[in-house]
Amino acid sequence: QAKLAGKGRYHLFDAEEDRSVRSHHESLERIQVALRCQEFVLHYQPKVNMRTGAVIGVEALVRWQHPQRGLLPPSAFLPVIEEHPLALQLGEWVIGAALFQMTEWQSHGLTLPVSINVGARQLRQGELPLRLQGMLARYPAINPSQLELEILETSALGDLAQVAEILEACRKLGVGISLDDFGTGYSSLTYLKRLPAGMVKVDQSFIRDVLDNPEDLAILNGVMSLAAAFGRQVIAEGVETEAHGDMLLRIGCELAQGYGIARPMAADLIPAWVSNWQPSPHWRSLKRVSQP
Ligand code: C2E
Ligand code: MG
Ligand code: MG
Ligand code: MG
Repeated sequence: QAKLAGKGRYHLFDAEEDRSVRSHHESLERIQVALRCQEFVLHYQPKVNMRTGAVIGVEALVRWQHPQRGLLPPSAFLPVIEEHPLALQLGEWVIGAALFQMTEWQSHGLTLPVSINVGARQLRQGELPLRLQGMLARYPAINPSQLELEILETSALGDLAQVAEILEACRKLGVGISLDDFGTGYSSLTYLKRLPAGMVKVDQSFIRDVLDNPEDLAILNGVMSLAAAFGRQVIAEGVETEAHGDMLLRIGCELAQGYGIARPMAADLIPAWVSNWQPSPHWRSLKRVSQP
């Protein structure tokens, strides 16, 4: 199957189809059914401050509870709908489900910031701020500042001015913005400069080998000082071990997320996790060896 231009890609499914294209089409229909039948669920992965032990929020990650195939990760269905209007419907569902969950937690005494991932198509449609505003109005108990949008650099590709404008409008609603998978795009520095994000999420590919790879460490240090210069916070993704945490704390990166802290989990497991989590005791005592 040829690589198709993003825009209008789904029109091709109406044409004569080869088998792979047809199976895409079937998946699309199945995903439509899944949305109607409420087969999607959000799992939540904590974000913490490794030094203070504070849980600073959770990231909502969509899964498909497939009746035959079990719990499916986003890689099993997001690529199929990425450029299809269905991505907008799923995106709407995610926003609503996250706000609903925040209200639930809040009614049990847990006020927890939640970030949601916003897809390229959802981001490029100018109505995102309006839709967000509408959704927030339906959940008046939620302070908009408790909601954050995670934007992939690759989603902003092409029409940066337009994306900046849309994000600015979201920010005016009080919603937070963070740059996801930071460093993996072609113009990370431009995005840092042009997009109104309060937080930068350093991609896990830079964290994975940082203990043995001086170049990854140099990139991390560079991101830390750039972010400081721009007044942005930095969080490290993919913190899988205590040693990763040690290294990050030494360079002044206190915020982290990763399997070494917690895996994504069902919503009902979050309250107990939040009240029980303790950072590694020696994290508190680690000294910073380089200044951001
Ligand atoms: P992401 O937003 O960068 O999320 C991080 C991904 O890395 C998640 O995979 C998470 O489970 C995984 N992860 C977290 N900690 C670790 C770690 O220590 N090691 C490793 N190896 N992996 C870790 P997941 O849930 O499969 O999501 C993959 C991607 O799918 C996300 O990347 C995000 O771009 C997208 N996605 C997830 N949920 C949504 C959604 O509701 N809407 C949209 N548009 N995209 C979503
Ligand atoms: Mg994310
Ligand atoms: Mg990421
Ligand atoms: Mg990612």
